[in-house]
Amino acid sequence: MVYWVHIARQNDRAMLHQDRCPSIPSNNITTDFWEGGWFDYPDKERALTALELSGTSDQRKCPLCKP
Ligand SMILES: [Zn+2]
Repeated sequence: MVYWVHIARQNDRAMLHQDRCPSIPSNNITTDFWEGGWFDYPDKERALTALELSGTSDQRKCPLCKP
């Protein structure tokens, strides 16, 4: 199971997704952690840590995939 963290700096928001979530783009473009983008993690613990460390004020779990 892979977990995805989508960081949107411009919206001050980060969201946790499970693998195969329909909102994950098919071409995952990894951008700079401080700029934002999609980041994959091998387990939920690391994904949650990344979510916390993102520094965004709005952190939530995706309502579509419900991790
Ligand atoms: Zn999702």
